[in-house]
Amino acid sequence: MRPTIRDVLRAARRRIAPVSQSAGLDAHILLSQVLGVERAYLLVYPNHTLTADQQNRFEKLVERCAAGEPLAYILGRRGFYDREFIVTPAVLIPRPETELLLEAALVFVKGKPDSTVVDVGTGSGALAVTLAAHCPAAAVYAVDISPAALAVAKRNAAANEVAERVTFFEGDLLVPLLERGVQIDVIMANLPYVASDDLPHLAVTRYEPRLALDGGADGLDLVRRLLGQAAAALNPGGLVLLEIGADQGAAVEALARAAFPQAGVEVLPDYAGLDRIVRIANP
Ligand code: GLN
Repeated sequence: MRPTIRDVLRAARRRIAPVSQSAGLDAHILLSQVLGVERAYLLVYPNHTLTADQQNRFEKLVERCAAGEPLAYILGRRGFYDREFIVTPAVLIPRPETELLLEAALVFVKGKPDSTVVDVGTGSGALAVTLAAHCPAAAVYAVDISPAALAVAKRNAAANEVAERVTFFEGDLLVPLLERGVQIDVIMANLPYVASDDLPHLAVTRYEPRLALDGGADGLDLVRRLLGQAAAALNPGGLVLLEIGADQGAAVEALARAAFPQAGVEVLPDYAGLDRIVRIANP
């Protein structure tokens, strides 16, 4: 007797439960991927049976999930804001908190539609691509030091039909733009901000790239360097949006005030009420 959808889902939920708060949902998502159906199908046809090949492929994915591999890498995609992004282990998996940074940028660009916007450390391209998709008149640049990450970001730009409106540069922070004398209205940056000593304690580092997480001794090496470069490139009236760690609000606010003495600096909380975004508004 071939196992039914109900059977394999029950076994998978049990297998995944030790590593996931959402084991039932994870099992549904993996099985709909293997069967090539919508999740609703699994609820409507719990007695349908799997072929040996389907069962095999499902069990392989369940084992990866049970070993702690993030679902986004297993599926090769993750939703961010209003679209889906290709993700590989070369890029950080986009986080919901980062949508707050995007929203703050969208508000600004609504008021100045022909803004020049830079996504520094673009990774999957989630910020640059989503902004470009929503702001057709903006000039969007995306920079990353990792060629492997840039390749993923370019695929995402193409998949979202904004490839012609996002200019990609491989390089260190704002250097490629400074070299070309590009003046910027909005800098968006979700840089690595985890302190090096904290990395070994974090589950994310088992699968996500260290290059996207390691911010040096206090986690702020890259933020500090970016702020040092930003003043020369930011237009009057421009905006810098930085994602930060929950315990970095006061430190980054101080760095921001030092780099931009005339600017309005605000620390904005995420959905959990934790410091997450620093917003620097140039006068
Ligand atoms: N938010 C990430 C985490 O959960 C860190 C991302 C970053 O360093 N930019 O660890």
